Amino acid sequence: RRTAVAVVGAGPAGLTVANLLRRAGIPCVLLERESRAFVEQRPRAGFIEEWAVRGLEQRGLGERLVAKAPQHAEFEFRFAGRRHRFRYGDVTGQRHFVYPQQLLVTDLVAQYTDAGGEAVFEVSDVELHDLTSDSPAVTFRAGGDEHRIDCDFIAGCDGARGVTQGYLPPETTVKAHHDYGIGWLALLAEAPPSADGVLFGIHPRGFGAHMARTPDVTRFYLQTAAGETEADWPDERVWRELQARLAVPDGPITEGRLIEKRVLDMHNYVVEPMAHGRLYLAGESAHLVAPIAAKGMNLALHDAFLLAEAFEAHYAGDSAKLAGYSAACLPLVWQYQEFSQWLSDIFHHTAATGENPFQARIAEARMRRLLGSPAAAAAFAELYIGKNADF
Ligand code: FAD
Repeated sequence: RRTAVAVVGAGPAGLTVANLLRRAGIPCVLLERESRAFVEQRPRAGFIEEWAVRGLEQRGLGERLVAKAPQHAEFEFRFAGRRHRFRYGDVTGQRHFVYPQQLLVTDLVAQYTDAGGEAVFEVSDVELHDLTSDSPAVTFRAGGDEHRIDCDFIAGCDGARGVTQGYLPPETTVKAHHDYGIGWLALLAEAPPSADGVLFGIHPRGFGAHMARTPDVTRFYLQTAAGETEADWPDERVWRELQARLAVPDGPITEGRLIEKRVLDMHNYVVEPMAHGRLYLAGESAHLVAPIAAKGMNLALHDAFLLAEAFEAHYAGDSAKLAGYSAACLPLVWQYQEFSQWLSDIFHHTAATGENPFQARIAEARMRRLLGSPAAAAAFAELYIGKNADF
């Protein structure tokens, strides 16, 4: 059978593209490896930048998010035993919307399927064919049968562990890669938040973070040494380090049952160009940014908006946006990569006091400038809340 666009992957990128195509009357089929229930429960991101929220809202996809998500316009550094409030909303006039990724995915799946959108969950063996012809195809297995969809275009939205990126030819693709050389332990605790928002602990023992999620659940992160696994972090060690890195005398950390404990890959990559023939990548299939500055889902949404617009323009007779799609996405990708890298130096290098006192003192100097200079704070705030400038 035939469709206009085959979308591989039902994460934020693929679901946004599929919804927008559907709304524009462009036929598409969405293919997802996992079950619908699984993607609707997978906890990952939480912080969505205001421009992305408004982008969803303007496209008719953000109603529940805007109605339900608490908004954050400040966070707290905990540094040198003291709390330092950082009010980025005052400087930028913008906020984060705190909405767990699985809720956004649930909303987007419902909007797509309620509108009659065609989705196939639990597919396997996805393969792409004839990408440089006018009629590429996707083959896959589902329900025990083999299927083939011929189409005009393929949107590769299958994330960092998907297959579509592998179809970019190595001769014409550059994959830039950066490894932070540390790990992050991502934790979810059944504990009420210890503060009304985000705490970043900048500490000689390593970085620690607290993120209020719901009245009963809090996300925490702990910097770990490279190569450490979940087994190296029994609950007792987790809480000892969270208290050491995040608690201050007038701001204790509330403990609870740990319901997720997962070491994250702390590395980044960007593939350029994000397209080959009739295949266009969007989101983490094209670029991964470690969750240091909570940028990944925002970038996935940015790509999805641009890709859907480009497909719409193509079917209205103008292919210039499709030709320029990768070049339109990449400047923001690199701004966010650069910001994450810069923030990583502050977050992670204060822990280097023993082995690399130079790096540690540089990180502390940056920290003091950020807290003491309004100009430095404004520049930081602009990138922390995201896409403000014309990069
Ligand atoms: P994904 O969400 O990974 O979706 C890809 C989909 O493709 C998945 O459903 C997958 O099952 C499917 N798939 C994979 N392979 C195949 C295949 N072969 N065939 C068919 N389907 C396939 N970002 C933020 O902006 N803010 C945050 O606060 C934030 N916090 C994070 C915290 C954690 C712990 C983690 C891990 C990430 C965080 N991120 C954050 C990053 C964010 O979760 C990702 O950037 C986002 O999910 C990317 O969306 P995507 O649609 O590109 O990819």
